[in-house]
This record gives sequence, C-alpha cells and structure tokens, in this order.
Amino acid sequence: METEKILLRKTGDAIARFKMIRDGDRVAVALSGGKDSLTLLEVLLLLQQRAPIEFSVCAFTVEQGKFLSSFEPLAGYLKSRGIDWTYHRDNPSLRLLDEQPDHGCDVCSRFRRRAVYQIVRGLGANVIAFGHTADDFCESFLRNALFTGRTSALPPVTWSGKREFRLIRPLVFVTEDLTARFAESLGAPVIPCGCSQRSGAVRRSLRGLLAELETEHPRVKESLLSAMGNIETDRLLDPRYLGMEDCVPQSNQALRVLTD
Ligand code: SF4
Repeated sequence: METEKILLRKTGDAIARFKMIRDGDRVAVALSGGKDSLTLLEVLLLLQQRAPIEFSVCAFTVEQGKFLSSFEPLAGYLKSRGIDWTYHRDNPSLRLLDEQPDHGCDVCSRFRRRAVYQIVRGLGANVIAFGHTADDFCESFLRNALFTGRTSALPPVTWSGKREFRLIRPLVFVTEDLTARFAESLGAPVIPCGCSQRSGAVRRSLRGLLAELETEHPRVKESLLSAMGNIETDRLLDPRYLGMEDCVPQSNQALRVLTD
C-alpha cells in the first residue's frame, strides 16, 4: 500500500535522523483517540518488525473528561489487534473539570503531563511517543515567528525533567493528509475530543494560510520543515550567533557615532 510505504519511510527517517529509538527501548505511545496517534502506534508496530534493533511498543490513553464519545469501540479495535494498551481515568483532571469547567490548556496540560509520567512509569517504558505531525511543527514554527517573536517550533526529541523519559515525535515529517488516509484505511474508530472542535483563532488562521499557500505551492510544508533543519545563523538577527565577540568596542563606538 502506497500510503503505508510513505509513512514507514518518513517515520523511519525521523527516528534515524534524531536517534529517537535505541536498542532495548520500551516505547509508550500516547493514544489520544485521534487519527495521528493511532497512525503513530500502527507505524511503530510495523517498524518494530523490520528494525535492526529490538524495542517494544505499548500504548496508553489518559481520560481527562474531554472525549465526546465512549472509548469502547477503539478499545475493541486495540484488543482485536492484540495491542498492549492501558486506559487511565485521571481523577485529578476529572475533578478539575467539575470545579473549573473553563480551565485553560496550560492547566489541562500540566495535569496530563503528571498523569502521563505516572502511567508510563507503571508501564516500565523509558520512551514516550507523541503523535504531533508535520502540520503541528509548521503551525508551531509560524505561530512563534509571527506572534511570539521567536524562531522555534517543537522538539522532535527531548527529555522529561531529570531525564527520566525520552520524549519523541516520530511523525515530524508526516503530514495530516497521510495520517487521515492511513487511519481511514485501518477502519479503526476515531474518538473525537471536545477540544478539537474549539481550536483557537490563531490556529485556524495558520491552518487556513498553509492550506491557501498549498494550492499553488504544494511543497510548502516540506520547505518549512527543511527550513527548521537548515538554519543560517549568520543571516538572522541574534547577536549571539554573529561572531561579534571581537568587535564589541567598535560596535559601541559606531553606535555612539550614530546616536551622537
Ligand atoms: S485543547 Fe483541550 S485537551 Fe488539549 S490542552 Fe487544551 S483543554 Fe486540554
């Protein structure tokens, strides 16, 4: 299947380039119920059979009270596939939802992070895989550049505090048209999250902007991803990367001349 081949190649490239998975790792996939994390889980299971190294894969879901329908259908699918999956109802998150129904994403993410580390610790995994896609990386890059004044996106690989877990995003090169096609071909149920329907105005504009650009420039996301990995620091405006250590006195002098 063409979609599967492309997915395996792009995910394999990311795993190799960023040394995401190593021999003996136990990888826990954060399964949100959406098409992206489900694709990630299935692709990692396929790669596990072909990789020259040994690693194991399990999955988990944190229930924070935001799913719009029961997880039962997906649970049935995962069981029929023999996938090692844990479903965790996070009581502190559910209490938070009762007490502060309008809480923001920052609080929700903090609660989720705490629950995730607790679950993954129990699963004996040392790596946590998230389903962020190329679209998420591009949006994050544009959001930071356009609205927060930083050249930054998401880390493809990073560590939790005290380096207890390696956090990886193997779908960095995979766009959502691919995950949508693949998830549909699996025939797996997708469980909607209430929050996916209230995506913010900035996110909607960035998605719209990328979609509009793509009608004339279909490789625009690929190009943005390349830009994130091909930084010409001497052509940006950060003095830390301009090799100016030796000429600070002259710069000050020049500045004085300019401002006198
Ligand atoms: S979008 Fe919803 S689920 Fe996601 S962090 Fe925000 S509040 Fe939580």
